[in-house]
Amino acid sequence: MNYKCRNCSHEIIPFFSLWDMPSVNLFLKKEDISREKKYDLTVWFCPNCYIAQLTETIPPQDLFVEYTYLSSMSTTMLKHAEDVSNYLAEKLKLNQNSLVVELASNDWYLLQYFQKLWIKVLGIDPAKNIAKIANEKWIETIADFFSLNLAKNIYENNWKKADLIYGANVLAHVPWIVDFLSWVKFLLNDKWTAVFEFPYIDWLFEWKFDTIYHEHVFYYSALAIKSLCKTVWLELYNIETNEMQWWSLFIYVSHPWVFKISDNVKNIINKELSLWYDQIETYVKIKEKADSINNKLKKILDWIKNEWKRIVWYWAAAKGTILLNYFWVWNNYIDYIIDKAPTKQWLYSPWVHLKVEAPEILNTDQPDYILILPWNISNEIIKQLNDYRQKWGKFIVPVPNPLIIS
Ligand SMILES: [Zn+2]
Repeated sequence: MNYKCRNCSHEIIPFFSLWDMPSVNLFLKKEDISREKKYDLTVWFCPNCYIAQLTETIPPQDLFVEYTYLSSMSTTMLKHAEDVSNYLAEKLKLNQNSLVVELASNDWYLLQYFQKLWIKVLGIDPAKNIAKIANEKWIETIADFFSLNLAKNIYENNWKKADLIYGANVLAHVPWIVDFLSWVKFLLNDKWTAVFEFPYIDWLFEWKFDTIYHEHVFYYSALAIKSLCKTVWLELYNIETNEMQWWSLFIYVSHPWVFKISDNVKNIINKELSLWYDQIETYVKIKEKADSINNKLKKILDWIKNEWKRIVWYWAAAKGTILLNYFWVWNNYIDYIIDKAPTKQWLYSPWVHLKVEAPEILNTDQPDYILILPWNISNEIIKQLNDYRQKWGKFIVPVPNPLIIS
């Protein structure tokens, strides 16, 4: 089957597939398991504009209208939001006449900091339950998907356009990205800036293929972002990396010829060209790496099962489901999942349908091994589970190099 690029309509090439997958964030009641919907999860590369993308997506209406994640619940997130707001307000010289619009604003986590500087703020988020929480905190928030009509309404109601449009992660999430950016362009004041933050494709090349899931429609390099901006006649004039999550990029976008293009843009683009980010061969290598991890992990798990030992999986995070699926590690290897979040307990995980238990089960049950699927924070988890480790427990860390920790 031939597919066309969502940005430039050129024919695209598949390079990594997890085949049919359900939404990895949708935990199920037992009676809903048989009705679980699956969608193809293959990532494609456009050789013309260099954007990596999915062709099949779950309708955003199903994913984002009732969202359970509140950004303000995470203290790291709040600190990051405060730093970003203060930094941008100063760097872009925002003042009391400015208007800041945040796309996919979630709750009040970020805009509150601009408001503290007496800057007028407006949030837009399709999740009605979350927009309500923001409005109750006096952060004006429109519960809707961003659109041209909405942009026009904002312009008419405020008698002005936005001086800063900010969006964290939206560029990766919105399937109709070209339209979306053209609406950003409409709403953006002539001499001002839109700033977007999103995961840098670097992580894909460094084993982090477990962040490929349906919510993430696009995976951007600087080369790809530059092509995308060009399509709608916006200019990418600066790029910064995020200190907290070093794999994130901040991009600064404006109408053409407003700002001088910074050396950062040229440097990152040159680095990417030297690493062949514009070639399909670079992307194909992701599968080789993933397969080599898979072979090693399978050997470890098979050895454990031959010894008749039991394994449970720790933390029902999205990336866990992706890893298990890719590794074809199913119910036959794993007894159940342990998760701290009460909203997930007693439900069944997507796809593999393992039951989620509360951590207290470790006081009564005695699994021999805990497979840590949020492997990037494995040290933190092993520390938390020190009691289990002291008594009888061992851990398996699957990525980037599968190993047993006892
Ligand atoms: Zn393209």
